[in-house]
Amino acid sequence: MSINLGEFDLIDRLIRGEKTAADGLVCGGGDDCAIIAGRGDNDWLVTTDALVESVHFRRAWCDMHLLGRKALSVNASDIAAMGGIPKFYLVAIGLPDDMSAEDAIHIYDGMKECACEHGMILVGGDTVASKSGLLLSVTAIGEVLHGRALLRNGARPGDAIYVTGNLGGAALGFHLLERDVVNSKAAPFIQKFLNPSAKVEKGKLISEIGMATSMIDLSDGLISDMGHIADASGVGFEIAADEVPVDENISILAREIGKDPVQLALTGGEDYELMFTVREKDIDAFERKCSGSSCASDFRKIGVVLEDRNVRVVKDASGREIDVPLAGFDHFRKL
Ligand code: ADP
Ligand code: MG
Repeated sequence: MSINLGEFDLIDRLIRGEKTAADGLVCGGGDDCAIIAGRGDNDWLVTTDALVESVHFRRAWCDMHLLGRKALSVNASDIAAMGGIPKFYLVAIGLPDDMSAEDAIHIYDGMKECACEHGMILVGGDTVASKSGLLLSVTAIGEVLHGRALLRNGARPGDAIYVTGNLGGAALGFHLLERDVVNSKAAPFIQKFLNPSAKVEKGKLISEIGMATSMIDLSDGLISDMGHIADASGVGFEIAADEVPVDENISILAREIGKDPVQLALTGGEDYELMFTVREKDIDAFERKCSGSSCASDFRKIGVVLEDRNVRVVKDASGREIDVPLAGFDHFRKL
């Protein structure tokens, strides 16, 4: 069987016709998490993400402990992307013949270590045999103050686009692993790819300040993830390539392996930093509020939201449009 639709068209087709309104449902599919009315002043956030052998990772590349950490982190990241705090998780694991109980225990040790850092608790799951590779599927549940979750659909023309952290490091790490470059200069980027961290503190701060209009975590790549905000909000965007934060060491190493560092930062994916938009009139006040917080020191304004949903451009320092593939990672794209 072959899938003749792109990943996002397929998802649209699969969820078509599903109810979008129900008692207790604040926001259904289509965002980083579903939002369900919760206890007291809080709403629940629910999300699920799977890691599949040979698709998301190669077993030869990563120890089981790190894989467990990553499986949990990418889910906690979707909760951070709405400004929430991760609380609970469930795990479905599909184990192939050539893995041992010890391997599974190492995966769980990694998940538990990462969960402990976030204050999360394992509350269930499922354990099955797999005939074709390891499957690790995590469902995470978090909480956010009612009405404070940041969705993808709130961006408005004129809003400033911000990102947190440095971009391109995880994609560089992937390319270095693929080329078997595993020296000490490469190590921090390989770590970024194998052991990403969810930006929960940053997401909570952005939600608490109350001036952001939309947010998403950077899993597919900056341009593609901005595309998700643009699709959901019915807007376009312009990104200033020279404002996109790229670490000097990323630039050096990327060039050594023949990769353009800015393209890595724009399209690479898996950085699990956050991207968000802030109302034009609130930009100064937002930046003042951030200036007192150490976790906001790496927030960077990189572009602007446009009214015309068809305009999605990246410009260089002289204002010239540069060529960037607008699509990010798509599981079913035919190459
Ligand atoms: P993320 O990268 O934030 O994890 P995805 O790109 O995986 O988000 O998914 C986009 C949206 O589509 C999410 O709201 C997700 O819950 C939903 N979704 C993805 N796959 C399915 C599916 N097979 N069935 C129902 N909803 C899905
Ligand atoms: Mg996400």
